[in-house]
Amino acid sequence: MGLMTAEQYEASLRELNLVVYMFGERVENVVDNPIIRPSMNAVAKTYELAGRPEHEDIMTAVSHITGNRINRFTHIHQSVDDLVKKSKMGRLLGRETGCCFQRCVGMDALNALSIVTFNIDETHGTPYYGRFRDYLAFVQEKDLTCDGAMTDPKGDRSLPPHKQPDPDHYLHVVEERKDGIVVRGAKAHQTGAVNSHEIIVMPTLSMREEDRDYAVSFALPADAEGILYIMGRQSCDTRKMEGGRLDQGNLFFGGHEALVVFDDVFVPWDRVFMYREHDFSGRLVEKFAAYHRQSYACKVGVGDVLIGAAQTAAEYNGAERASHVKDKIVEMNHLNETLYCGCIACASEGGREPSGTYSVNSLLANVHKQNVTRFPYEISRLAQDIAGGLMVTLPSEKDLKGQETSKWVEKYF
Ligand SMILES: Cc1cc2nc3c(=O)[nH]c(=O)nc-3n(C[C@H](O)[C@H](O)[C@H](O)COP(=O)(O)OP(=O)(O)OC[C@H]3O[C@@H](n4cnc5c(N)ncnc54)[C@H](O)[C@@H]3O)c2cc1C
Repeated sequence: MGLMTAEQYEASLRELNLVVYMFGERVENVVDNPIIRPSMNAVAKTYELAGRPEHEDIMTAVSHITGNRINRFTHIHQSVDDLVKKSKMGRLLGRETGCCFQRCVGMDALNALSIVTFNIDETHGTPYYGRFRDYLAFVQEKDLTCDGAMTDPKGDRSLPPHKQPDPDHYLHVVEERKDGIVVRGAKAHQTGAVNSHEIIVMPTLSMREEDRDYAVSFALPADAEGILYIMGRQSCDTRKMEGGRLDQGNLFFGGHEALVVFDDVFVPWDRVFMYREHDFSGRLVEKFAAYHRQSYACKVGVGDVLIGAAQTAAEYNGAERASHVKDKIVEMNHLNETLYCGCIACASEGGREPSGTYSVNSLLANVHKQNVTRFPYEISRLAQDIAGGLMVTLPSEKDLKGQETSKWVEKYF
């Protein structure tokens, strides 16, 4: 297949048999659910833009396995140029959607595994890298969206996995069979989980010998037997069920996270990429985390949208010429472009790993992460300052249209 269209992506999700719960009830039709659908639209953008000639260079790449053109979200970085293009892709999509488009976690998991499976094989003589490449070829060929699942619920943070009162607070192997393993546990805060075809599981921290049953990495179809999803809330999520257009925030796009439960799930050996090699769990976490920190290029795209919105609000209010408003817009740009510098820098300073994959500079990726935990909040603060009280207290769309209220809302706002 090679490249899926946005329409084919949506159709492919309809074929999945996911077990999803939200607000205490089973969601039978995930794709058309008004709360979930905007998040599906955001992932669909990663398919749509890949099909547009003007974005081909950024949104697609040539597979180093098959030589076919593939979506960059399924690509293994083969050069510094690939890493830089990944950052540019994040900004582009953040700007197009104004939100999290969810597909980067899977890309980061694939790239981290392409490094660490090779490292494990070199040390332990295991067969993981070959297995991983076969899996990767499948993901690239089908143009799949993968959920990157690292974070365990973790229970008591002061205790390692094997000492937890509930042994399932970290995902672990409960049975080894001839044809594979059985795993139990959960992954928390999973971005884009119910918009994904596959789920790629990785351990969440460095582990010791005693925790070897927790040092496990594998991939499964998102609707494998025994997996269930419990949706996390989004602020203002139920507004999506109110109808209308004005009160919904980002009308077209959104993100989501879910708790993913693995209730004794079978994983065949050809999908297992780490099994009890506890000495490599920390390395996998580090590689995934560094790539994922780079992925916060998306926040720069969202910043672009917010700066544009703040400028527009100032113009509506007739305040755009005030020197303090101009200063604030300049400050927002300064912060946003500083964020951009971080994700471009860690990519530009990246280097080749023994498997041939290019990895970002971890130190610079961590600095970028530090900036990302601060600057977007400051950019938002400035946007709120410029926009004024209406951002917070605006009456509803129904009041704008209401018989008794319409004339007043029209007149005063
Ligand atoms: C919007 C969103 C999307 C996400 N998407 C994904 C995803 O797609 N995939 C995924 O795998 N994860 C995802 N995550 C999870 C994210 O990576 C974690 O939230 C993060 O790693 C922190 O883990 P935690 O929530 O368990 O917090 P904790 O690790 O419990 O941290 C909470 C606080 O406790 C401190 N702390 C924790 N343990 C110790 C200790 N032993 N000693 C001292 N201090 C400690 C920490 O430093 C921190 O200050 C997402 C999270 C969010 C908010």
